[in-house]
Amino acid sequence: MEANKQTHAFKTEVRQLLNLIVNSLYSNQEIFLRELISNASDAIDKLRFKSQTEPEILGDDGEFKIKIRPDGIAQTLEISDNGIGMSYDDVMENIGTIAKSGTAGFMEMLKQAQATDSLTPELIGQFGVGFYSAFMVAEKIVLTTRAAGVPKEQAVRWESSGDGTFSIEQTEKAQRGTTITLHLKKREKEDPDYTDQWQIRRIVKQHSDYVAYPIVMDVEKEVPIPDNEILKDKDGKPLGETKRRVIEEETLNSRKAIWTQPKEEVTEKEHEEFYKHLAHDWNPPLTRLHFKLEGTTEYHALLYIPSKAPFDLFQPDRKHGIQLYCKRVFIMDDCKELIPEYLRFVKGVVDAPDLNLNVSREILQQDRLVMNIRNNLIKKVLDLLKDMPAEQYETFYNQFGPVLKEGIHTDASKRDKIASLVRYKTTRSEDKWISLDEYIQRMQPDQKEIYYITGDNLTTLINSPLLEKLKDKQYEVLLMADPVDEWVVQSLTEYDGKSLKSAEKGDLELDKTDEAGKEEFNALFGFVKSQLDSKIKEVKASARLKESVACLTGEDYDMSAYMEKLLKAAGQKQPEVKRVLELNMAHPVMNKIKTLYENDRDNVALKDYCQLLYDLAVIAEGGKLENPARFSRLVGEVMTQAIA
Ligand code: ADP
Repeated sequence: MEANKQTHAFKTEVRQLLNLIVNSLYSNQEIFLRELISNASDAIDKLRFKSQTEPEILGDDGEFKIKIRPDGIAQTLEISDNGIGMSYDDVMENIGTIAKSGTAGFMEMLKQAQATDSLTPELIGQFGVGFYSAFMVAEKIVLTTRAAGVPKEQAVRWESSGDGTFSIEQTEKAQRGTTITLHLKKREKEDPDYTDQWQIRRIVKQHSDYVAYPIVMDVEKEVPIPDNEILKDKDGKPLGETKRRVIEEETLNSRKAIWTQPKEEVTEKEHEEFYKHLAHDWNPPLTRLHFKLEGTTEYHALLYIPSKAPFDLFQPDRKHGIQLYCKRVFIMDDCKELIPEYLRFVKGVVDAPDLNLNVSREILQQDRLVMNIRNNLIKKVLDLLKDMPAEQYETFYNQFGPVLKEGIHTDASKRDKIASLVRYKTTRSEDKWISLDEYIQRMQPDQKEIYYITGDNLTTLINSPLLEKLKDKQYEVLLMADPVDEWVVQSLTEYDGKSLKSAEKGDLELDKTDEAGKEEFNALFGFVKSQLDSKIKEVKASARLKESVACLTGEDYDMSAYMEKLLKAAGQKQPEVKRVLELNMAHPVMNKIKTLYENDRDNVALKDYCQLLYDLAVIAEGGKLENPARFSRLVGEVMTQAIA
């Protein structure tokens, strides 16, 4: 703990973000209050969770609430909670640095959006700017906070005018939790007054009604003075006041647990606001699932699928979106036990009345009830996806397809079900996703297998020489351009009785190359191989090629070129996989090389041609040449000869 006041500069990202917030969310200003209330509610959730194993941490302050204190004269607005609070280090880490995962990518996207003028509140909201949104309305923010369980002298005071620096010092605070004081900006005439009680009531009702803790505000009320206290004349007429003004605490939110309400009774608006609060997302959800399961496993569930993927979807430390409740009492956030990784985009609440209130995370994993709920949720979510209208499903798939596909690899019991949900672009459908069922329906009569090719770029894939013969025979090929597809094809070897076959590996058996013909090339192939020995393990006549002269392939159980690239990029050292060089013996140039080899096998040009054949195969699959300068020189020479 640092005792003296210190001034720090905001991290660059925070400064940039603050600038964006202040300048671009103007029309949506009032949501700052929702953000601060959500933070307060989260802080109380955290404390309550902790108090389940450490009840003493609550002391004599067990009545959770969030208090709003407007002051019209000073033009300040105070929001306080008696939640978990923050230590000095917490404040340093959480406020002013944005230690959030995915920040870099997010800032990059914002910059691009700004350049194209497509910066919208939704885009920023996707990241959840939270606390910083208060700088839209405040010229100065003072935050004092005392972590649960520490003495009152060990509180922290943070202050900033949002101008690039903040100060932080030790202070005293009587009550546990966090108090945030906004010194509001000067208002223009048409601006709302955020110290006005009606305004505050309206905003809380609209954006934070379902918050589980009371959001309270002191209000002055006129109440009748009890009769025996009223001063009266001899006729019984009151001489003085009959009413007096008192301060009362008013609760502003209804605290509806909308997940326990009958489905029909919850309005769209309520869902939207609840989702936004829950998911820290500013976009409305794509769809939802609201149901009550009865029987041996009883629970309520209200689940949402977001319409946009959050920025940290692929960060290993990202939180899961399910909150666990027991009879409307919050138990924990981020409940990984209830939903598998491949459905981590689902946000919502599960309320299980039979759950043991004192469960710990360790116990949850083995809890039968939790396991049943998990299996049931998986089924419900997959069914929801299956029954989505096509257009909505496309939106979903564009955002979350890669995550869902992970399930094919990680959840064998649901493999086929998930496989029926995956979509691919193909050689016959470059712009529109198709399902495996659609693929099978339009297979050629003589086609037995489902063909695919993996790689990182659709254009390279669709033009790959490996597909020439397949295209010629009108066999459709799935274009798998997503890293996770490499894992998909490892697990999904078959769908609906048809095996999946890589266009890059093994024999395609498209046209049986006649065995006698093969002999004829053996000598030449031996020579080519001897020239490229360090890079390839075999030279073969190709059944894949039609226009191109050469390509690289693998044997059935070899790692694909894309997988090798992915593992390399991930920093995994891989032994170099030697590949098979396939040559198109129907190509005129091969005929010429063959003749040259047979008539003049010591011709020096032959060595160069071998190199060129290999380089051509590498380039066609979008690979990098080991020696591009040599390639360039050789092509130059060949062109000179050709033109002469
Ligand atoms: P987010 O809420 O999306 O994480 P914020 O910028 O709003 O982002 O808050 C950053 C962090 O600061 C929170 O994750 C939380 O750890 C901490 N924090 C914010 N407000 C409070 C509060 N009222 N009490 C305790 N911690 C808080």
